Amino acid sequence: MRCFRELPVVPHVTELVGTLQRAGFEAYVVGGAIRDLLLGRAPKDYDVATAATPEEIRAVFGRRQARIIGKRFQLVHLMHGGELIEVSTFRRAPKSSAAGGEEDSDHLITSDNDFGTAEEDVWRRDFTINALFFDPVKSELIDFTGMGLADMERRVVRAIGEPRLRFEEDPVRLLRALKLVGQYDFSLEQETENALFSSLGLIRRASSSRLSLELEKILASSYGDRHLRTFHDYGFLHYFLPELDERWDSEVVRYAVDLLAVRNERVAAKLYRNSVSLAMAALALPFVEELHGHQPGELWPYGGRSFDLISSVLEKVFRPQQMINRMTISAERMLRLQPLLYSRDTEHNVAEAPGYAHGRELLMIQNECIWHRDDLAAAWPPGRSRDSRPRKRRRNSRSRHPERRRPMPPPGA
Ligand code: ATP
Ligand code: MG
Repeated sequence: MRCFRELPVVPHVTELVGTLQRAGFEAYVVGGAIRDLLLGRAPKDYDVATAATPEEIRAVFGRRQARIIGKRFQLVHLMHGGELIEVSTFRRAPKSSAAGGEEDSDHLITSDNDFGTAEEDVWRRDFTINALFFDPVKSELIDFTGMGLADMERRVVRAIGEPRLRFEEDPVRLLRALKLVGQYDFSLEQETENALFSSLGLIRRASSSRLSLELEKILASSYGDRHLRTFHDYGFLHYFLPELDERWDSEVVRYAVDLLAVRNERVAAKLYRNSVSLAMAALALPFVEELHGHQPGELWPYGGRSFDLISSVLEKVFRPQQMINRMTISAERMLRLQPLLYSRDTEHNVAEAPGYAHGRELLMIQNECIWHRDDLAAAWPPGRSRDSRPRKRRRNSRSRHPERRRPMPPPGA
């Protein structure tokens, strides 16, 4: 189904799509951006899909602007309008999906590099609301599944094809479905929901690096608290973050999720920048208090054994996911500073300490959540340390983490 729609795609993305089209290649904006624009929200980023192969995309934009990344799922990172845009080539459904079926008794997909047409590309996507294509040059919305637009209006998440098979092919789709539920307050379509409930355990087969990356994305979003609640409601948290799940009804976890929610509100209000390590620290903080025998909101004494406790807590809370070392170290730093910040310590040169800016923000989050003291913000100037400065985007920063290159990795990889 095709229809005319005005959607406010940012000009540089429209221009990028136009450039590909003028070079003779079909091209669309796809994925989450279209979903968000239809809901009247600002997209977090843009995904573009095109008939051009990675080599052809590079030929159109030049090597300086376009870099081919990934092996099992090749795509192009295009620097355009000062932003990095991921451009992928249309693919057809991999062999082991619903249409075909491999000899292999399980349906896990391990490679996903067969190029195809726009329509073929749609059927290998996960949910109908994620499979809408938009041509920003013609302002044309294309709903190849015929259900995407209606599902947007019904506010449902529906797997494309046979739901159980789609979850078997790539168990990370379980998590992706629940993220959509948590983020938009959508519900699962009945068959998708039945299949999800009977497939939850499959998540154990997903690669740990992909799951850790998902956790990183959840903590980097401003919906982390909502995602965790949804995961718990659907029984998924038990597999994903068992420590939080087991203690879900405790004061400790309630406070932890509240701290994350306040952090998210402050990010949304642009009071502080988004940071994964800060989100990690917010979630872990009540567990550190508890290990010291303290109640939520009662920080621990600075120094000594508390440092060891902090690292053990971080590991335990996020197990079995493995967070990047750099983030764990940063979370540790800001947690260590909390007792000093709270007591308005003047001896330790706190404002110059590494991690001060995030540490101060964590203090503000607790203050907003539980203490409501007037003196803390004034006592500590907003961060001047490295944390608060906007980061320079490191070129190819994901390449050190081989699983972290693709927006749509080969399912099951
Ligand atoms: P976000 O706003 O979080 O970026 P998104 O839906 O755009 O949400 P991406 O990970 O950027 O998520 O993926 C872009 C698109 O690629 C999705 O909308 C979906 O069509 C497709 N996709 C991503 N992951 C999968 C998957 N595991 N299986 C099938 N299709 C996928
Ligand atoms: Mg996206």
